[in-house]
Amino acid sequence: MSFISELHNNKNKSLIVNCEIKKGDDLILIDRQRLRQILTNLISNAIKFTEKGIIEIKYSIIQEKEILFEIKDNGIGISKKDIQYIFERFRQANNKTKKVYGGTGLGLAISKGFVELMGGKISVESIEGKGSIFSFTIPYNQVKLVNNKY
Ligand code: ADP
Repeated sequence: MSFISELHNNKNKSLIVNCEIKKGDDLILIDRQRLRQILTNLISNAIKFTEKGIIEIKYSIIQEKEILFEIKDNGIGISKKDIQYIFERFRQANNKTKKVYGGTGLGLAISKGFVELMGGKISVESIEGKGSIFSFTIPYNQVKLVNNKY
């Protein structure tokens, strides 16, 4: 993925992946392409808006019915005023953000659309100057194997 090479070239940022789903536990039916696009967008943003620090990705199963993904950064954060519009199309926190960091303001709107198409919810918590946590859920469609077949 594109953000991996960006991290390789930048010694000020590191990425932690914290997975609470045990490998081989279950098969999960999920739209891999869409999930990849949502994660790529949120992780790329976390890297883009963090000059120096740690980006943490965590995923876990909650109440046996949803997978919760959390992408946490300790970057520039989002103000209370801007946070309410952040998932709208073409929205960027302010003109300065656009000038300094570039972008189209479409990524979060697309991610929200995908999460909702998959039956989940997306949300954000942030403190300006401290960082942000973007979280989303996807229904957990467990596939049972019978004689090693779906
Ligand atoms: P883009 O990144 O192309 O501008 P997005 O829709 O992905 O578009 O993001 C919209 C805006 O939300 C960004 O321009 C930025 O102002 C804000 N934003 C998104 N992710 C973060 C983050 N992790 N930290 C701070 N601001 C963010």
